[in-house]
Amino acid sequence: HFIVFEGGEGAGKTTQIERSRLWLQKQLSLDTPILVTREPGGSPLGQALRHILLEGESIPDLTELLLYAADRAHHVAEVLQPALAEGAIILCDRFTDSTIAYQGYGRGLDLTLIEQLNRIASQGLESSLTLWLDVEVERGLARTHQRGKRDRLDQADLAFHQRVQQGFRTLAAQFPQRIIPIDANGSEEQVATKIQEILTKWFNA
Ligand code: C5P
Ligand code: MG
Repeated sequence: HFIVFEGGEGAGKTTQIERSRLWLQKQLSLDTPILVTREPGGSPLGQALRHILLEGESIPDLTELLLYAADRAHHVAEVLQPALAEGAIILCDRFTDSTIAYQGYGRGLDLTLIEQLNRIASQGLESSLTLWLDVEVERGLARTHQRGKRDRLDQADLAFHQRVQQGFRTLAAQFPQRIIPIDANGSEEQVATKIQEILTKWFNA
């Protein structure tokens, strides 16, 4: 099972992944390994790329896209595929849909090019299930500001984040089998309950 959590700023992906991991560990037999990972930054090389992408100088759009693709290529080949081969359940913070939403809808790069790059970098690997934590843009940004989270993107304008949100909305409508929207405007507890409902159905199907 390759389960991806997607969403815009302050959607609560990291928090909900950790809660899902704890919950799943209780539900499943102890010998099912659960891997929590993320993009960018799910491998040591990816960590270095994450640092360059998020902490450094502003990066031209095409270069940024290719750095995300490099992170993904390494993550898929070195982390995700080996874990899937061992029968692990993977909980991944962001994957290919983020690239479409941020670099495609947000930055305005060509969607066909991004889809091609996604396929190349992922070697065709797709999520079994994607949970899109759908939070109102302003609310999500307020959460990240409260946390004091500051990276390069926080300075990007509201319109950018609205476009990203539109990207996720479009993807969710386009791939209703794979992408499940979760209302992420409520409390941590409320969102966790909704996710557990979806995961229960998923693992019992
Ligand atoms: O998932 P997390 O919030 O840690 O992501 C780190 C940052 O990378 C965020 O600011 C996110 O908006 C940005 N990002 C991006 N393009 C991607 C993936 C993440 O701009 N494809
Ligand atoms: Mg996070």
